[in-house]
Amino acid sequence: MPKTIRVLLTGYEAAPFYKRGGLGDVLGSLPKALIQIGIDARVVIPCYEEIRKNLSAKRIGKFKIHFGEKEEEIGIYRNAGTPRVYFLSNSSNLSYLNTRGRNKKIEQFAFFDLAVVHFVTWLSKQRQWNPSVIHCNDWHTGLIPLILRNKTKLPIPTLLTIHNLSYQGFGSLKVLDLLHIKDEDAKEIKRGMKVTEINILGEGILHASSVSTVSKTYAREITDEKNEGPIYAYVKKREETLGRSRAIVGILNGIDYDVWSPQNDSAIFHTYNVANWQSGKEKNKKKMLNSLDLEPRLTFCFIGRMASQKGLDILVRVTKHIVNNNANLIILGSGAPNIEKSIRKLVARYSSHMRVEFAYNEDFAHKLYASSDFIIIPSRFEPCGLIQMIAMSYGTIPIASRTGGLKDSIKNNRNGFLFENGSVLSLKKAIKRAVKRFHDEARYGKMVVNAMNTDFSWKRSARLYKKLYQNMLLQHNVTH
Ligand code: ADP
Repeated sequence: MPKTIRVLLTGYEAAPFYKRGGLGDVLGSLPKALIQIGIDARVVIPCYEEIRKNLSAKRIGKFKIHFGEKEEEIGIYRNAGTPRVYFLSNSSNLSYLNTRGRNKKIEQFAFFDLAVVHFVTWLSKQRQWNPSVIHCNDWHTGLIPLILRNKTKLPIPTLLTIHNLSYQGFGSLKVLDLLHIKDEDAKEIKRGMKVTEINILGEGILHASSVSTVSKTYAREITDEKNEGPIYAYVKKREETLGRSRAIVGILNGIDYDVWSPQNDSAIFHTYNVANWQSGKEKNKKKMLNSLDLEPRLTFCFIGRMASQKGLDILVRVTKHIVNNNANLIILGSGAPNIEKSIRKLVARYSSHMRVEFAYNEDFAHKLYASSDFIIIPSRFEPCGLIQMIAMSYGTIPIASRTGGLKDSIKNNRNGFLFENGSVLSLKKAIKRAVKRFHDEARYGKMVVNAMNTDFSWKRSARLYKKLYQNMLLQHNVTH
């Protein structure tokens, strides 16, 4: 085993360079925590034009890859700070994040995955660095284990972390042709079933040396043999075809307190801490409600992507209940047009108590965490969820579904409220309990302090990742 473990983490986003959801937070903060415990962690992501515009990174080299019939040049950029982040650029395939057309999406990331594998080869040829482990994240990087095995002789174990199973990267098998990978080389995908499509995440599960996800409960939910959880079939196949462990390790994400702390957050109106949270939150709330032209009242919020996973349909059905309790509801999010439409209707009806911003707005998110009393998280499933952790750090009490990482990170009645997943009635009851608690100053204050004092730093989870990398390397040495 190398003295220092060198890990290359990769995914489609990494804060602060590019962030659209929790994975961006993770790839921005986990590497820092790994470095603190002696791991040489680096990151590689695509160099979208939006990143390049604001980047003060140096171009350190280039290489070429064959994708389909074309030869494409990849430029390599590197930031100046720590952790070291590499950006791979290519004007035809990586200049922006493709969000339309599933085949276009999977082609883009087949291209990126091929580029990452060549980049690793390029790095070691240049004697610059060679990773002992490649840590892939979500379907976007799910082809790396297969390409690595197929196109190189580099003996590097791979970890695939699943952050969200709703996105698996389905599409035409033609991506294999673009990668010049023969059907028989990818035969695991086809064995035993008529397959005309590739499932990139499934492919990653089959080929990665280890697989993990972002909470213990989600790990159980998705591999549940009894209910045939969504990836049970792949996990079983992984065991049958590769003899590899069926187990999916669950390691809870953490948050970066350099970014998410009301004590030194320059985006909020007034900074505060656990000692003066009452006046601090009050001042933030006053400014926020003033700016939105809302009366000073108890205030609930929602922050998140407007995807069906996030359970906004449930929130829609309890809005009247919130308003009847004479409370405000402020919503920040964007996404599915049908969800936005139903929220628009509500705002028109409850304009005296409700505001919504349909946008991805980092600055507004910080302000909203600081100025709300409660945050509602009605997710139908939630692999880990960072929103509840961030909210708690700002003393904003989560009211969340009892699922996945929400269940693993919230202690019901102590630092938040849990309600039964998908149940409008149960959410209504939880809101009732929250309102009652809010008016009981002493008990509410205790809850806020508990929430703010809950430690969601990466320390513990970073150590669990280190152990996992060590096990992977030991295992790898045995089999190679
Ligand atoms: P997911 O990764 O499923 O989107 P998480 O709870 O893991 O959900 O992480 C969401 C992250 O994205 C948090 O940092 C949250 O503050 C941020 N976020 C979500 N929606 C928005 C938005 N509309 N504007 C700003 N930040 C947002």
